[in-house]
Amino acid sequence: MNLEAARAALRDARRVAVLTGAGVSAESGIPTFRDAQTGHWARFRPEDLASPDAYRQDPDTVWEWYAGRYRDVLRAEPNGAHYLLAQLEGLKGNGFLLATQNVDGLHARAGSQRLVELHGNLLSARDEITGEVFALPDPDVLETPPVSPNGHRMRPNIVWFGEFLPEDALATASEAFASADVALVVGTSGVVYPAAGLALETLRQGGVVIEINPEETELTPLLSFSVRDVASRGLAALLGQAAS
Ligand code: NAD
Repeated sequence: MNLEAARAALRDARRVAVLTGAGVSAESGIPTFRDAQTGHWARFRPEDLASPDAYRQDPDTVWEWYAGRYRDVLRAEPNGAHYLLAQLEGLKGNGFLLATQNVDGLHARAGSQRLVELHGNLLSARDEITGEVFALPDPDVLETPPVSPNGHRMRPNIVWFGEFLPEDALATASEAFASADVALVVGTSGVVYPAAGLALETLRQGGVVIEINPEETELTPLLSFSVRDVASRGLAALLGQAAS
């Protein structure tokens, strides 16, 4: 398949499923874990903090890291890729689903609504006793660890290493990928579950899977077509638009 054919497949598709990873927010200045060199990202190794064990041992440090990331994502702005995906949703309507592994809330801020957040998000926290989710206050007044309106300590509303993805979010994503005419895999390395599984489901059902990533990934050899570019330009090329 070439770019022309990929564009035509996307244009004609009635059902479109999209999976995004950290790369889609790189142009908004939010580093992928792998690329992180500065700030909270360099001081801490995610794998040392993003786990139930780390939280049990040192909730203050874990919360310090998440509060810093929360502040960072609120300062960031959605980029062209986030907006183009919101626009694609507008074109496809009910036949569209965006599943993101990102926790930065930028897709929602760009207007995406048919959206499932597979790994939770940084803008909310979860009551440790009841499991209820509450929006965090403004970072300037956030005290960590935060306490829920029920008076219980809250944990970050994030799926940590070793935890299961929320069942309903994963079921919604699996269904959309299994029935998609075209699936897009944008800014994710494809090695981490569920990226590979979702894309392969689309292929198994005879759908087309298009990757957008400046680098080759482990999924690349299996897919129908790869746009070897950053997310904003790659999506603009696929949608037949000039990149913003
Ligand atoms: P990842 O699997 O999400 O890898 C990032 C991918 O993005 C790589 O394949 C890289 O080639 C690609 N990429 C880099 N710049 C890009 C660009 N401008 N356009 C398109 N693609 C680009 O791995 P990770 O970063 O280690 O993340 C692991 C987990 O942590 C994932 O769940 C991820 O979503 C999450 N995470 C989320 C955020 C966020 O919410 N913004 C940031 C870091 C990590």
